[in-house]
Amino acid sequence: MGTYVPSVELIARIQAGEPAAIGRLMSRAESGTPEARETLVRIHKLAGRAHIVGITGVPGSGKSTLVGKLAQNLRVNGDKVGIIAIDPSSPYSGGSILGDRIRMSDIGTDPGIYIRSMATHGATGGMAHAALEVVDILDAAGFGIIILETVGVGQDEVEIARASHTTVVVSAPGLGDDIQAIKAGILEIADIHVVSKCDRSDANRTLNDLQQMLMLETREHKPVGWAVPVIGTSAVTEEGLDELLDAIARHRDVTLNSDTGHLRRKSIAEFRLRKTAEKLLYDRFAGATETASAQLTERLMRRESDPYSLAEELLAATLKQEEDDERDVHSRIA
Ligand code: GDP
Repeated sequence: MGTYVPSVELIARIQAGEPAAIGRLMSRAESGTPEARETLVRIHKLAGRAHIVGITGVPGSGKSTLVGKLAQNLRVNGDKVGIIAIDPSSPYSGGSILGDRIRMSDIGTDPGIYIRSMATHGATGGMAHAALEVVDILDAAGFGIIILETVGVGQDEVEIARASHTTVVVSAPGLGDDIQAIKAGILEIADIHVVSKCDRSDANRTLNDLQQMLMLETREHKPVGWAVPVIGTSAVTEEGLDELLDAIARHRDVTLNSDTGHLRRKSIAEFRLRKTAEKLLYDRFAGATETASAQLTERLMRRESDPYSLAEELLAATLKQEEDDERDVHSRIA
């Protein structure tokens, strides 16, 4: 983790947009160590201005390519763009394939673009929590737009996309007969639908299929005041990119100014609260004292009690012990 940098200094460097400082706190957030908590609490107070855009779709749908193009176009308008690529397939922690691909392209050297890859591999339920902390860090560092790129295949990834202000679902021609978004269960989380690779001759069919499907869609909580657009894009001809940027900006206004937007922000806050509570609970349980669990294990082996009762005992013992530590941390932060 390198030399210890006091919280205040680290935060000042993050606010100045220093990439090394941003990366350092991101690593701490990802590893989920309790020591980072104080700094992350302060960062949260500084965050809250960025527009968070989730981009999701099945592998091969053209997300990374699209994200690269969007970032380039947003830079022309002067926005600083943060990109968080969440890649469940990557076995490498720290740098995953998705992010490397973007990094190698032209945008990799622009200081107004910060790219972070997060591998879901090995994460123990704390993925969404860590991702949202990484979002906060970029937000506090002055990145006005933060793109959360996720592969719409796992529950975690879908949840992360749902935690964005604006969710873009990408479909592509040539990946099979069906609308992939339906299969992946991500059709209904879209605020904006994109059909990528519109330079291909078979793209029209995908566009039509999707439009027909949306007419039949009976979404439980249909957003009021927002008609979900279907936009064809091509990274080759740049067709549709302006339209997509415009739709993202318009949806941002909806999120900020309407009742629908208020509900959205409320559900994001609920999600954040729940994920943080889950993380705390997990941390506490993971910290179960070895002695307590060893004794209980013995009792289970001897069949003195049942697994449920003993697990309850283990939890109760753990929570009680950790409560005291919690109180300590609180008094230090206050
Ligand atoms: P991801 O897995 O969803 O991130 O998809 P990628 O961005 O890696 O793209 C998958 C493949 O589609 C790659 O071979 C890209 O070169 C190709 N691709 C992406 N966008 C376009 C496009 O607009 N037109 C065409 N013809 N191919 C594209």
